[in-house]
Amino acid sequence: MTGMMPQAAPQPLSSALALLVDYDDGTRQMYAEYLKRAACEIEEATDGREGLAKAISRRPSVIVTETRLPGMNGFELCRLLRRDVLTQSIPIVVVTGSANTSDIEHARTAGADIVLLKPCLPEILLREIRRLTEHSRELRERGDVVRLKLAGQLARSEEILERSATNRRKFLARSHNRHETTSPTTAAPELICPECDQPLLYRRSHIGGVSERHSEQWDYYECAGGCGTFQYRQRTRKLRRVE
Ligand SMILES: [Zn+2]
Repeated sequence: MTGMMPQAAPQPLSSALALLVDYDDGTRQMYAEYLKRAACEIEEATDGREGLAKAISRRPSVIVTETRLPGMNGFELCRLLRRDVLTQSIPIVVVTGSANTSDIEHARTAGADIVLLKPCLPEILLREIRRLTEHSRELRERGDVVRLKLAGQLARSEEILERSATNRRKFLARSHNRHETTSPTTAAPELICPECDQPLLYRRSHIGGVSERHSEQWDYYECAGGCGTFQYRQRTRKLRRVE
């Protein structure tokens, strides 16, 4: 033994674990197969109660859930996960078949870190999990080794997956990832209401556009003075009232 080695080297943690909560077997299978190839361990649940129980007992690195679940729905699941000290810092990705704005907002306030709309390719899910975990790295306290490990692991596996499929890039460009998020790549600017000069409160961003290369980001705000909802378009830098 070399007595010079630091005594307790950090113990490698068990590999990244993703908990997939969805009532639909096909969806779970599709994501499970893809994430397994990306070196993720998978746990599955078919309803909200089972999801909550497995989240608490297994403490996954990330939770991917539908909003529409039998028994306890995905919103309630998010709320309970955020309330429990054992699960409150686990990133939550909502992947939902419900595209209406109030559900997206509801998921966000319930605790989702990002909301993706079905149909959502597994490549997109992986990419967003990776982005989310990297983003969390900046935001949350140091020492969150699980999160860092997951981000690193996914980054590596994504490289491998990209190399393995020559037409993947073209494929991804065709299936552009439009989604709602509160942690956009380009930060939403701080703005003042053009009608009453009070601050505009940031709510969410819509990532859209025709392709990944020509993607657009629209940031949504509420006026603190109650004038309504405003939309800021990053490309044109125009602010307009939408409601
Ligand atoms: Zn105003």
